[in-house]
Amino acid sequence: MSPFGELWIWNDPALRDCLAWYLDVADNRRPAKFRIATTVPVSVDLDAEGTDGLWAELERLTPQFLDRLDAVRTGARLEEPTKGPSLLDLVSALAQRMLESCNFCQWNCRVDRASATKFGTCKLASGTRVSSFFHHPGEELVYRGRLGSGTIFFTSCNMRCAICQNGDISTDKDNGIEVDARILATMAWILRSEGCHNINWVGGDPTIHLHTILEAIRLLGRGADRPGRFDVANASLAKADPLSWTPLDPAVYTYEGRFNAPMLWNSNFFMTEDAMKLLRIVMDVWLPDFKFGPGDCAKTLARTPWYWDTVTRNLKVIHDWGEPYTIRHLIMPNHVECCTRPVLEWIEEHLPGAPVNVMDQFHPDTFTDPRSCKYQEKYAELSRRPTRGEIKQSYRIAQELGINFEALTFEKSVWGLGIYPHRRANRVTTK
Ligand code: SF4
Repeated sequence: MSPFGELWIWNDPALRDCLAWYLDVADNRRPAKFRIATTVPVSVDLDAEGTDGLWAELERLTPQFLDRLDAVRTGARLEEPTKGPSLLDLVSALAQRMLESCNFCQWNCRVDRASATKFGTCKLASGTRVSSFFHHPGEELVYRGRLGSGTIFFTSCNMRCAICQNGDISTDKDNGIEVDARILATMAWILRSEGCHNINWVGGDPTIHLHTILEAIRLLGRGADRPGRFDVANASLAKADPLSWTPLDPAVYTYEGRFNAPMLWNSNFFMTEDAMKLLRIVMDVWLPDFKFGPGDCAKTLARTPWYWDTVTRNLKVIHDWGEPYTIRHLIMPNHVECCTRPVLEWIEEHLPGAPVNVMDQFHPDTFTDPRSCKYQEKYAELSRRPTRGEIKQSYRIAQELGINFEALTFEKSVWGLGIYPHRRANRVTTK
């Protein structure tokens, strides 16, 4: 067994069960889903076929893909990639079609981002910007492992959270560098070849960049070779930690001689069901944020309608699909009863046993930080960290409900003293 699989946290049987597929891919015992998708041929012309025809093809092929995934999961060999277009090409093609009448997320703006004649809520055209990418040392241990989570921070967001913990990235759409799919694929390749345990797509929010991400994953699935030095040099402009020009042993980042890495969707989960259907084909593990309760908090703090209905629907979808996932909930000052409690109650009722990180590291940032020039007085209730009493109360609620939260929550928290000795305090990517 590799060092990643030997980490003490995998001794927790519930976590190991929930994340078994992800762990197998991270250790290259299994090919990632995007590799399996390259073995499923499509029977339509991706350029000539109408959009409805492409969706029908996805509906037809998804059960075949899932059968193949199950076979690989239980030890079957990975078949050779198709000579012609595959399911992986199809999901990328569908994302490009969606961009022309954008419904990546629940705002459902239906603007043509490809021609940039009109902008939706995210204010983006087809371009994608990356703020930075690096080995993230602060994610949960199941993601950061020993060598870090291969995190790619996209610029911009489709929500307007006053509580955003990455406000510098999410509120400035010109932050970072512009990337195309090829540079994005190179970033992923660099991170994995340097030993990262996963490719962590995050922001802002990654949903609004779905077309570029799926095209990058398509390139990773099709291309067997390492990227050229020119691409590496371009990508490295956004690398926030030292670049290793010498990859590790290929065993670290390949399965049967070709690039392999678990894909991690680290998102606010405000995407549409159509976006979920594409992501299902390529994401090996999901990391949803579940921030607000069913009252008005999502509207007053994030200017986001339909939040509760959308996020609970999407959580239920990945649960019913049997996907590996862990949930994050950030404790906010003055929002334990209206947000933390109903969020945890809903999880207990609808996703029993789901691993949850109940996070205590909220800090005032951007609109809630009195030291920031963007501070807004109306968010004064959020201009402090949660008190010890609020944090204890949140843990008590989780305990009383029987939520599976201790392993993820306490592994790096002072609250875990005496329970998990390997804790380490670091910032995570929660937004
Ligand atoms: S990504 Fe969401 S917010 Fe942006 S244009 Fe598409 S539907 Fe609208």
